[in-house]
Amino acid sequence: MKFVRPKYARRGKLPGSDDLSGYDTGNQTVRIGEDYAHLRGVTDKEKYEDLLATIRHEIGHFLDDQIGEDLGKNTFASYLGRLKGVIQDDIDRTRGDEALFQRLKDGFGLDGEFWEYILDTRVTDFFCAMTGGRLHSFAVKGHGEKYFAERPHRAHVEIFADFFSLYSTKGNDDKIDFLRKLYPDTIAELGKFIKLHGGV
Ligand SMILES: [Zn+2]
Repeated sequence: MKFVRPKYARRGKLPGSDDLSGYDTGNQTVRIGEDYAHLRGVTDKEKYEDLLATIRHEIGHFLDDQIGEDLGKNTFASYLGRLKGVIQDDIDRTRGDEALFQRLKDGFGLDGEFWEYILDTRVTDFFCAMTGGRLHSFAVKGHGEKYFAERPHRAHVEIFADFFSLYSTKGNDDKIDFLRKLYPDTIAELGKFIKLHGGV
């Protein structure tokens, strides 16, 4: 993993055990659950890759929380006005573009263009967040409308965590390029932000 600064690596605990993976801001614990095992049609190797992607995603939440705390008691994805604004613009654009939503929805079917990306779960939360949770019922994993409606900043947080998971691992340039075509501003800002905070 390229991007874990020592001062953050010393904090936090990993992992707990529960039904679902997640990051608990209260006790700074990354929890790795069994949810990754419920994917359809995966081989063991794919399941293993998926687990690693889940761990990276949750570590993304952990770093978000820690850097945000250093910056001012907030998650950094939602803390920085510019980053928040750029991501929100893309969320609003997706929300207002029914053709784009239909493309995402079709792409998340078993034979759809996003299936290979969903299979390793590295972009499910990203797209669920971009659509305010509308996509959730068509995707294998991710979060639904209620989750994002309860706390709007969760969309920025999930988008960051998925981007971090991709960015911190070799071999994902094709996936990042793919996201960049759909959301060039968001991907540019996320990349800049990770570099600013110690990423390669
Ligand atoms: Zn998440």
